[in-house]
Amino acid sequence: MEKFNPETLLALEGSFLKVPMEQLKRSTKPHKDLDRELAKASLIVKDLCQQADKGTFDVKSAYENLEAIGKKLECLKRKLNEANEEEKKHISRGRQRLDHLIELTKIKNTNDPEFKKWNEKRIDRILVDYLLREGFSDTAELLASEYEIGALVDIELFTQARAIEQALRGRNLFGQNFGATSCTEALKWCNENKSNLRKINSTLEFNLRVQEFIELCRANKKEEAIDYSKKHFKTYLDTSKKDSPQGSIRRHDSLKLKTRSDPLLAQFLQMMGTLAFPPNTTCPPYKALYDPSRWEALIEQFRADFYALNSLPSQPLLNVTLQAGLSALKTPMCYQHDNKNINCPVCSPDTLGILAQDLPMSHHVNSTIVCRISGKIMNENNPPMALPNGYVYSHDALNEMSSKNNGKITCPRTGEVFSFLQLKKVFIS
Ligand SMILES: [Zn+2]
Repeated sequence: MEKFNPETLLALEGSFLKVPMEQLKRSTKPHKDLDRELAKASLIVKDLCQQADKGTFDVKSAYENLEAIGKKLECLKRKLNEANEEEKKHISRGRQRLDHLIELTKIKNTNDPEFKKWNEKRIDRILVDYLLREGFSDTAELLASEYEIGALVDIELFTQARAIEQALRGRNLFGQNFGATSCTEALKWCNENKSNLRKINSTLEFNLRVQEFIELCRANKKEEAIDYSKKHFKTYLDTSKKDSPQGSIRRHDSLKLKTRSDPLLAQFLQMMGTLAFPPNTTCPPYKALYDPSRWEALIEQFRADFYALNSLPSQPLLNVTLQAGLSALKTPMCYQHDNKNINCPVCSPDTLGILAQDLPMSHHVNSTIVCRISGKIMNENNPPMALPNGYVYSHDALNEMSSKNNGKITCPRTGEVFSFLQLKKVFIS
């Protein structure tokens, strides 16, 4: 029986628990609003009490004030109820995930049928994760409900990301004009996650704004573009205050210096340059800004930030586990056709062998000799046997072959035929 260390498997599962916890953290936002609104309400009430004491109490305005407070608190109550439901959902998901991981620690060895069951569940959720990332949402949902692993996968999160990606892509696929505002969804998401995006130094919102500006230039709406830049880029580049008011030459020099230390400023200045160039320009920097491939770059950037904020790994777990597994099996023999092992997935030249091509080899302290015919290990129970032509195969495989062919053995490499009696046992020292 093979013992195993659950920690080696759990090492890859960090984000499995982090994701619902991250969502839980976010769903508690209305609680913070509650404190603020209650403080505001108590201030107003206090003020009204003071007015009453002084005799300056105005019934009509007091009534209006109290009614406004009532409405606000009512709305907050509704939001809190919704948040409570969300919280319960995330806590339950977190608990189910924890239970799933704890199951693993109860398993003693790899022959335990529970281990097989646990692994199957793991493969199912890894597959669902992969399908979600690749955009096969319907298949992923079907698989998740079929195997009852809805709590162990992040369908809701990926659906949200997909909607935003589609909006960004829509511009590209259907060539909609700026009126379709394909950055809107992504900008909305940026706004909702402003402080967290700032923590990871994200430039996503800036790049989305640049794209909207470029689309205005593309549509030849130059005045609108200038207004847009005034409205939306102030927060990033408030140069007016920092510049010394000593003539335009000085200002120009300081701007030049700043573009070196502030890449956003440099990008902003270049972006403003698009005003002077038509969409079919051949001038490289502006041609690049008008290039539709910028949309793909935005999708990539959005996805990276979305994953980072939700503690989702940047790579699908399927890739990570597959790479680890293939690398553990890969030996220099895998790519020598004559020496390939029929049981080794990396030895298969058309499928997993291609995937493993760029992966590192595994480090084997002790080598084992594997039979070319059966793929089984040759040892004292299944000794290596040499044919008169020098090739070596396992006793069991040759024995089986000879019993099926009246004591004759055909060498799979050369096609030569020998009798079982001609074989010699090989001793490895
Ligand atoms: Zn191999």
